[in-house]
Amino acid sequence: MTDGSFNQEMQKVFRTSNVFTKEKCTSCWAKFYCSGGCAANAQHYSGSISEPYELGCEMEKKRLECALALKALEFLDEEE
Ligand code: SF4
Repeated sequence: MTDGSFNQEMQKVFRTSNVFTKEKCTSCWAKFYCSGGCAANAQHYSGSISEPYELGCEMEKKRLECALALKALEFLDEEE
């Protein structure tokens, strides 16, 4: 809030917001890396912090795929 007030309803929503309460996140393979994405982006694009920003999800999953692949290659190099 820019006027100095504090939105206590939003605070309650934040308190229970996690990958187990966001429907889209519950079945997402990336949930324990991502932790449910950016709440500000979700609020801005979908109007709710409980509805993850789809493009952000796709970018996050692609970054994770690349990071995991690099880590696997690094591990294989160490094995040789
Ligand atoms: S990538 Fe999207 S759906 Fe998956 S855990 Fe992150 S916010 Fe949730």
